[in-house]
Amino acid sequence: MPLQSINPATDAVIATYEEMSAAEVAGIVDATHAAHLQWRTTSFDQRAKVLRAAAHLLRSRADEWARLMAAEMGKPLRDGVAEAQKCADCCDWFAENGAAMLERESVRTDDKHDSFVLFQPLGVVLAVMPWNFPFWQAVRAFAPALMAGNAIVLKHASNVCGCAIALERILREAGAPQHLFRTLLIGSKHVDAVIEHPLVRAVTLTGSSEAGRAVASKAGQVLKKCVLELGGSDAYIVLEDADLDVAVTVCAKARLVNGGQSCIAGKRFLVVEAIRAEFEKRFVAKMQAVRQGDPLDPATEIGPMARRDLREEMHRQVTASIERGARCLLGGSIPPGPGAFYPPTVLADVRKGMPAYDEEVFGPVAAVIAVRDEAHAIEVANDSMFGLGGGVITRDLARGERVAAALECGCAFVNEPVRSDSRLPFGGVKQSGYGRELSAFGIREFVNVKSVVVN
Ligand code: NDP
Repeated sequence: MPLQSINPATDAVIATYEEMSAAEVAGIVDATHAAHLQWRTTSFDQRAKVLRAAAHLLRSRADEWARLMAAEMGKPLRDGVAEAQKCADCCDWFAENGAAMLERESVRTDDKHDSFVLFQPLGVVLAVMPWNFPFWQAVRAFAPALMAGNAIVLKHASNVCGCAIALERILREAGAPQHLFRTLLIGSKHVDAVIEHPLVRAVTLTGSSEAGRAVASKAGQVLKKCVLELGGSDAYIVLEDADLDVAVTVCAKARLVNGGQSCIAGKRFLVVEAIRAEFEKRFVAKMQAVRQGDPLDPATEIGPMARRDLREEMHRQVTASIERGARCLLGGSIPPGPGAFYPPTVLADVRKGMPAYDEEVFGPVAAVIAVRDEAHAIEVANDSMFGLGGGVITRDLARGERVAAALECGCAFVNEPVRSDSRLPFGGVKQSGYGRELSAFGIREFVNVKSVVVN
């Protein structure tokens, strides 16, 4: 089956890619392993030089990458430029700080012995990545992995093959050895065979819980290390002492990041009953004011959804929630015309038993849930199978810290939207996955932490 890139703003087929055969894929893994054997002998300075050159290409040609993202998955140009720049910053950050995180660590055990810990690369890491941040998701996997001396084979989402090929070219132009980073043009049903390949040593996946379950099962069968960054249903708690202007600004920004198609987008807004009516009024006005349109128009703030099938599935979640008693305050219907557009939507009176409460809603649909007080808010926030991010809006920072600590999630932010940052660990608990990306915690996921004792 050929892989297709379809412009989600126009429905036009942009490009078709022949899938690689099983033999071709196995050959690429062999070549990537050979590149790793040479790369693991290079110094941190040599690796940093490649990452810095990649950063330069990402930054200086950000407009070109933004246009590619806009064409393949509908990201507005300004967001695509920001994404390319964030990728460049990530490469620079690991180039600057990676060596210190992987330096040999001495541990005193016994007077007679010299004991220490080494952090050595594992080999070829398979990265299975999604379309929502087609550059960032891949860069945050490869920058630490390459700095640690690993090699990468990337199986990107089938709708963003152009971005995957561009990333391979960027690394080659940056001076990475041939085959150190290779893109596999394959559909998801061929991923198992890649995981089984004896020279693939580990796998990292960002995507849905279903994809995570499939990849983790196969990795478990063949006993390979696996890091999973899956979905989320992040709750933002708006306490009665919140500044409501701050609250609606943070909540709308958190919900509409990348048109709502982000694992760490705010999805459930838990508002204390005393301020709920006023919050709803101002929140609807904020969501309504967002400019949706052609991703190539510099004024556009949100574009279409990435694929029509994703829009249909999300609309099912909206209509099923309304049938079960949710009040639709804004949006909620599929507009006529081409593309996979869906309007900013606000559902109120959302309760357990509705898809907007129980499931991940991956688009511009906010669920407002009334709560009695802080304790009830924490209980509802944690009443989710997911545990990726979460937010708290309050004027009392000590209270904000206390609530953030009580949330069952991997990243909690007070008075601002959750975001990933190269300097901080990123990942979740419960059905949101396991392991961490970014920071010293991320770079150490794909290394052999080796104890050495010399007598
Ligand atoms: P998927 O999780 O299906 O896709 C993510 C990646 O996993 C893609 O590369 C995909 O390949 C691959 N994949 C899918 N199924 C398998 C499998 N069984 N074995 C191995 N690899 C697999 O996301 P969708 O695009 O279908 O989106 C569906 C939902 O997933 C969204 O609505 C959202 O809820 C969630 N999602 C979460 C993301 C996050 O950042 N955590 C990102 C994207 C989606 P292929 O494209 O070839 O199918």
